[in-house]
Amino acid sequence: RGVLLPDLLHDIIEQIQPIAEMKGIHIYTEFDPQIEVRGDRERLYQLFVILLDNAVKYTPAKGHITITSHINKGSVHVSVQDTGIGISKEDIPFIFERFYRGDKVRSCDDGGSGLGLAIAKWIIDKHRGKIRVDSIKGEGTKFYLQLPLEKKV
Ligand code: ATP
Repeated sequence: RGVLLPDLLHDIIEQIQPIAEMKGIHIYTEFDPQIEVRGDRERLYQLFVILLDNAVKYTPAKGHITITSHINKGSVHVSVQDTGIGISKEDIPFIFERFYRGDKVRSCDDGGSGLGLAIAKWIIDKHRGKIRVDSIKGEGTKFYLQLPLEKKV
């Protein structure tokens, strides 16, 4: 059996909600029902915790986060978008490297290690998926993920 994606994402949102709420950040979701990803639930959980954790961490008070998931051409597509500080053009090529932390981040340091996205990329690769990012400094960030669909028999 595959991993039921809306369930997984709702579990993570439930965990992250209190922290988001404290910052007045609203989380919106647009999930197609019943999507199943072929993969490891624990790893996928870890992957989305990293992305959502970052979204909350790098979004100032009163911002929002939007998570979508749908099926397109036989794959699962997930996006995680925030209205946060964004990532500068110079940083974008490096954010998936181990220990890399954006410039802006070091000033409001919370002791992050810069490992999160390297682990996220590793998990995506293990699933033969894809991840890419669009970001505008000062406006926000959007991660796009592609993951294998669990085909129903
Ligand atoms: P940790 O490993 O503890 O999460 P980290 O957040 O610094 O620390 P990564 O998750 O690997 O490490 O992220 C790498 C860098 O990418 C961050 O330091 C930050 O500059 C940038 N980044 C990641 N996600 C976002 C986001 N949603 N908005 C803005 N910048 C981000």
